[in-house]
Amino acid sequence: MGTTKSKYVIANAMLVGVGRNAGVIPRGYLVVDGRRIVEVGEGSPPADVGEDVMDLSGRMVIPGLINCHNHVAMSILRGVGTDLNLQRWLKEAIWPIEEHLTKDDVFWGALLSISEMALGGITAIADMYFYMEEVARAAAIVGVRAFLSQGLVGGNRSKWWHTFFATRALWRKWNGAAEGKIKVFLGPHAVYTCPPPWLRKATQLARRLNSPLQIHLSETAEEVEECYSKHGMSPIALYYHNDGKAIKTLAAHCVHLSSEDIELLRKFDEIHVVHCPWSNLYLGSGIAPVTELLEAGVSVCLGTDGPASSSMDMFETMRLAALLQKGKKQRADACTARQAFLMATVNGAAALGLDTGFLAPGLEADLVIVDLDRPSLQPMADPIAALVYEGSAELVRDVMIAGEWVVRDRRLVRLAEHTITLEQIQEQVRERHRRAVWERNT
Ligand SMILES: [Zn+2]
Repeated sequence: MGTTKSKYVIANAMLVGVGRNAGVIPRGYLVVDGRRIVEVGEGSPPADVGEDVMDLSGRMVIPGLINCHNHVAMSILRGVGTDLNLQRWLKEAIWPIEEHLTKDDVFWGALLSISEMALGGITAIADMYFYMEEVARAAAIVGVRAFLSQGLVGGNRSKWWHTFFATRALWRKWNGAAEGKIKVFLGPHAVYTCPPPWLRKATQLARRLNSPLQIHLSETAEEVEECYSKHGMSPIALYYHNDGKAIKTLAAHCVHLSSEDIELLRKFDEIHVVHCPWSNLYLGSGIAPVTELLEAGVSVCLGTDGPASSSMDMFETMRLAALLQKGKKQRADACTARQAFLMATVNGAAALGLDTGFLAPGLEADLVIVDLDRPSLQPMADPIAALVYEGSAELVRDVMIAGEWVVRDRRLVRLAEHTITLEQIQEQVRERHRRAVWERNT
């Protein structure tokens, strides 16, 4: 059974992401006991460590990759509304279809994306959508950590109260479920869909439940302009002054920021900017000022955004995060490989409040085993640069979450316990996509 916990000894592996500063041990060992890493060291493991030693010569162990922004169920809508900017994409392509999605659509869509991400070395996700109990169920089946928000949309009273009560129901049923791997966050969608009075209700509930909050902020120039004309201030300022500054917040996107916005972000009690470079490029939103945020000391982590506007590959996401800043600033050190790697690991763990993100004794064992036997990875002068500039989800062989194997030899271990296969999931999503997207149009 997938829930069985035991002791694992990994030997002869390259260890990358050792300690908070992404240290590298070219040949080392790592011992996992129960949910936690208990030893990390150079060379061979001590002789008395136990008999089940896994020889990982030619492989690398890294901490689990953390995807801090998603809408996983949107795999149902993959490829819908291509080449439209965000606002047209939402209004013309996405929202009209989403209105008709069923709970089962959300479940299967979520299961496909979460499966894809686990196979690609992603061990924790933050997600916002509707029918979130279905997303929780899918996450529990695959075995990943999931930080889930019912998207709260204000303006329309009945819709608001419906989503507000759905948040409370989700909290009661799922917060702390799946051996603590599932947590519930508050999720006001954005300042343009959740005006100030409603936003305050969300922050009040966040405070009452002692829950962090996730929100989209300053994703497009249009959003910022509209906020200035309606409220006389930027989305960051509006959120900050609307009770947001004292709430632990994951702010997705933050593409269009003034220097005053960056100063406000620096002054928040605890804010984590979730940089989503793939989606920001795909939807024509822009390039976030990541270099300026890092230089100001703002915590920046990475997200893909949903599969209808982004690849689910966190290696590509790290690569884009680094390359975009280099090109934008015309400075090769504007975002280094190490900074991109830390955003996907250490900073992601801080954003989600996880006791993971690097390899060290005492931390929860969220590990990814990467195949190094690839032409593109030879020779490897700098292992972190190799992962960021040449890595891909395809390299991932095995994934452990909280000391439990979730992926072994590129197969999802826990699906079998639920008598589900990856082929069935793909078939379900293809069929549901056909019904939701194509039959609706005929
Ligand atoms: Zn989003």
